[in-house]
Amino acid sequence: MSLVSVAGDHTPMGHVALVGAGPGDPELLTLRAVRLIECADAIVYDRLVPPAALAWARKGAALIYAGKQRSRHTLLQDDICRLLVRLAREGKRVVRLKGGDPLIFGRGGEEIEALAASAVPFEIVPGITAASGVAAYAGIPLTHRDHAQACVFVTGHLKDGTMDLDWEMLARPRQTVVVYMGLLGLAVLCRELIAHGLPRSTPAAIIEQGTLPDQRAIVATLSTLAARASRQGIKSPALLIVGTVVRLQRSLAWFSPERTALAAAAGS
Ligand code: SAH
Repeated sequence: MSLVSVAGDHTPMGHVALVGAGPGDPELLTLRAVRLIECADAIVYDRLVPPAALAWARKGAALIYAGKQRSRHTLLQDDICRLLVRLAREGKRVVRLKGGDPLIFGRGGEEIEALAASAVPFEIVPGITAASGVAAYAGIPLTHRDHAQACVFVTGHLKDGTMDLDWEMLARPRQTVVVYMGLLGLAVLCRELIAHGLPRSTPAAIIEQGTLPDQRAIVATLSTLAARASRQGIKSPALLIVGTVVRLQRSLAWFSPERTALAAAAGS
């Protein structure tokens, strides 16, 4: 890794790696993510980063929590960008660790824009995004020749109680719709998809804590999912998957945390 000097200063410029930590199961981090975590001087991490990922940090590394909760930002986005630039200018090897993939609904784009604008060298390490990780552990193929030829990822984040989404596009047949941050707006999402033409009986699932030992999946239809999710107290993080591929879950669900733990123990 080449170190660039900052003009007028003798501290060599550090480096920031924007790293995806996957959806929860620490086994889903990439080798590159683990190697960078192991040699980082500072790790700036988000709320959904698996705690076990931080266990690879070397002794003495600074672990800085920059997690965000809805409408209660621990560090504002601008502060995070400034912090990354400052750490790099101090010569540090920085890992900016985010849940899932850093460039999918993670504001990673804004952070690397800030780094680029300040001439801080950076690299990007992709991670397994919630859609693929959570769907795989729930036994839902996101595309399937008999069901869906396309898959759309959207954010269901509510702004002033509404969602600014292209409902016509989302209600097209033969595709799978994956909604991140859709739990609070679940009833609105299901209602709008029906209003824009999807059958009320369209299979829909919400998966809480996907890939983790506490994973829970509720499989229902567009007309029943919101009520069932609220009755069963589904909490964040949760991912919504809509489309006929969800029907396959009944025969393909394979993930059972106890079984996985037993297999790991047997292999060790
Ligand atoms: N950059 C991340 C997404 C950040 S947005 C990625 O690529 O996965 C955060 C949203 O992701 C959550 O509100 C939830 O909808 C989804 N999510 C992340 N981890 C999840 C998990 N383990 N189980 C279910 N949903 C998850």
